[in-house]
Amino acid sequence: MTEASSLPLRNPRTGAHDGDLPITPAAEVAALGQQLRQAQQGWEQQSIEQRCACLSALADALASRREAFMQVLLDDTGRWHESAIEVDGTIAAIRRWAAQAPAVLAEKPAQAEAIGFISSQQTWVAYPVVGIISPWNFPLMLTLIDAVPALAAGCSILAKPSEVTSRFVPLLREALAEAGLGEVFKLVTGAGATGQAVIEASDQICFTGSVATGRKVGEACARRFIPASLELGGKDPALVLSDANIDNAARALAWGSFVNGGQSCMSIERVYVEAPVAEAFTAALVREVSALTLNCEDPAQGQIGPVIAASQVELVRGQLADAKARGARALTGGELVERGGVWCPPTVLVDVDDSMAVVRDESFASVLPVIVVKDEAEAVARANATEFGLSAAVFCGDAQRAERIARQLHAGGISINDACLTGMVQTAEKQSFKLSGMGGSRMGTASIRRFVRARALLINNGTASPWWFPPAA
Ligand code: NAD
Repeated sequence: MTEASSLPLRNPRTGAHDGDLPITPAAEVAALGQQLRQAQQGWEQQSIEQRCACLSALADALASRREAFMQVLLDDTGRWHESAIEVDGTIAAIRRWAAQAPAVLAEKPAQAEAIGFISSQQTWVAYPVVGIISPWNFPLMLTLIDAVPALAAGCSILAKPSEVTSRFVPLLREALAEAGLGEVFKLVTGAGATGQAVIEASDQICFTGSVATGRKVGEACARRFIPASLELGGKDPALVLSDANIDNAARALAWGSFVNGGQSCMSIERVYVEAPVAEAFTAALVREVSALTLNCEDPAQGQIGPVIAASQVELVRGQLADAKARGARALTGGELVERGGVWCPPTVLVDVDDSMAVVRDESFASVLPVIVVKDEAEAVARANATEFGLSAAVFCGDAQRAERIARQLHAGGISINDACLTGMVQTAEKQSFKLSGMGGSRMGTASIRRFVRARALLINNGTASPWWFPPAA
């Protein structure tokens, strides 16, 4: 049987197969890895300022193609406003890295303690080839979020975006060439087999995706003894305490749960609300969510885009059917809308319990179960009763109490009196807890340290060392 050379591209607004994605053969991925390994040597020898000048040029090259990037992202994801936020946010992040990286890399590891006749020099050494494997929910941003600090550190990049959303690849290649980065940043396309070839060709992997695939990627990296940064799924909880500003909590959660149609790793997917304010909060949430509309007719109108990946449709349909069969009630939405593509209307569910898949498993869709709890302790315990630990939110009128509660949550990024701030504020370091991931922070300046190793030169000044064996007679 001959290997397929392309994959069908599906337009999420129409459901139609409207293009083909070439599959980069494994041998070509390996050859690109070799080319990168060569090119990286000269790249790392350039000064950090020269490398950052190329990154600034990349930001300019993206900015000059802003509308073209938005169009290909629209074709792949079916949403317009988030595509603008994604392109603009990516450009801003590249500029931030270009400005920050020189100071970050100027900080060397602490000098070894001086021992009389021994001096030391400490340097950073970049990993030659960093492999990036990314998902479909923010295709451009999640392909560049690790690549840019890695380039600043002196690494080269071998990236494979999701096969669901790779239409931006030719445009990005063009922008990279214009910025002088074409030799140190190669993009390949395809599905899981291409991802495996990327792992084989790389010295470090940054993977963003599901827990199931992350496990396979982590295992493959362990077999090769190469580091893996794994940024995986979540089931992020929000806690609404009885002294919270209810209107703000409802507005923040309508946004934090339903922006990008709930297809964000840090989407709020469960709310635990204290009983005294449950009714008022639920009414406020329903009011906010009822005002949201689908963008079926015009991608630029309405807040909720289509379900991007066809594979998600049955998962969401199954979670909703299971919840309803077991007594859950949808106060808004509740049924998928099919117009060629499939939309999940923003759905607030009540009368749910923690055993339902919609409360337990990642939905990655605009579905928000609301669960009433008797007090703070129950809210914390149920929020933590999950295998995930990505992010969370706490709404509380008392700042000290909010921080105390936040510190009890098993997650790496906690928004207080807001939601999903880790997606918007990329300067604060955070790591993923439990099955939500592994590895150093991709946020903040620590991100860049993931891409360098410390090398120590320990220099004897010519003294006969007291540690040596006595001289032979
Ligand atoms: P996925 O795991 O299905 O695919 C991710 C990538 O892995 C794709 O590029 C895919 O082609 C590739 N892949 C598949 N099998 C592979 C294999 N065996 N070896 C190497 N690569 C392989 O994830 P998805 O459906 O594209 O994305 C949705 C998931 O991503 C959700 O679980 C979401 O929570 C998660 N996510 C996490 C973050 C984060 O920062 N933590 C951000 C965005 C999305």
